[in-house]
Amino acid sequence: MAVEEKIPSIKELLSGYDKSNLVIATICSHSSLQIFNGARKEGFKTLGIGIEDRIKFYDAFPLGKPDEFFLVDNYKDIPKYVEELREKNVIIIPHGSFVEYLGAENFLKLELPTFGNRRVLMWESDRDLERKWLEGAGLDMPKQIKDPKDIDRPVIVKYHGAKGGKGFFIAKTYEEFEKLVDWSKPFTIQEFVMGTRYYLHYFYSPIINEGYRLKKGSLQLLSMDRRDETTIDELQRIGSISELEEIGIHPTFVVTGNIPIVMRESLLPEVFRMGEKVVEKSIELFGGIIGPFCLETVITEDLKFKVFEISARIVAGTNPYISGSPYSDLIQPDLSTGRRIAQEIKYAQKHDLLEEILS
Ligand code: AMP
Repeated sequence: MAVEEKIPSIKELLSGYDKSNLVIATICSHSSLQIFNGARKEGFKTLGIGIEDRIKFYDAFPLGKPDEFFLVDNYKDIPKYVEELREKNVIIIPHGSFVEYLGAENFLKLELPTFGNRRVLMWESDRDLERKWLEGAGLDMPKQIKDPKDIDRPVIVKYHGAKGGKGFFIAKTYEEFEKLVDWSKPFTIQEFVMGTRYYLHYFYSPIINEGYRLKKGSLQLLSMDRRDETTIDELQRIGSISELEEIGIHPTFVVTGNIPIVMRESLLPEVFRMGEKVVEKSIELFGGIIGPFCLETVITEDLKFKVFEISARIVAGTNPYISGSPYSDLIQPDLSTGRRIAQEIKYAQKHDLLEEILS
């Protein structure tokens, strides 16, 4: 079935909703403390979809705790409860773990109004489509090596759909690749780009026309982070990678946290140029990416950006900035990505534009 036929009509999803009484809801994980905190600051009621033995820690963070919990045994069961959730007027804020826990197919079909454009899921989760989108936008991506026999430089091997860098490995030759690869899983081989990593947190609004304007709407840069990945980011504490590889210890790329960062100001024009192109291409390809998105980049020694991935929703890298970042502080004090999402919904609610930002 074509994607378009799976996604319910937003008009129908919103019919029967009390639009003056919307509730911001998400799964209790990933960036939910920030989402609930931001919604609360904008005056919304909040609902956390959670699993009984994983929610007690919210008691420790009263300003990040949802007003109400909706308990499920398994996140995959959420589609069974859509009627109950619709009665509560919920707007779902998808985050990285939301799609992972629910499953891509269930997410596309979910009969609840969802912030952003669900069609983006196809384009970010398929590495070939993602490349078509980003290269089509004129961004420079790491070279892809189709045949492992052609490995002639350090490469990173990524398994499709692997979350949080799990199982990824580095190889410098075909022999190394062959020793480490799991042929049973589909993978992509990318040139390993040498440089420093910056994960850029943007917000695109198709309905607010102020600040950095695009052909339609406007673009903000709210913050940036660097991911902390185990074990690659700490390996040098016990020796060089090649020493360790000799004894069979290979670096891994599993994300454990996020580190705040800012970049040289002279790089900001390029940051905005890239964000703008990505949005414009998305409008052409699938009706537009809406709300928060993140470009994962490496800056090389000649100060060029290579973009190795896009995340099309709120990323956990925004979590260090619950009370604002050095960038969002220049837009409005105390502005997190979670709060910015709530503001967008509030603006759309006031101007009767909800169908423009929800799907
Ligand atoms: P990804 O799942 O594409 O976000 O990759 C997981 C991690 O692998 C990233 O956060 C980076 O640390 C690293 N990585 C991915 N692609 C590259 C690349 N082409 N060059 C260097 N490091 C990369």
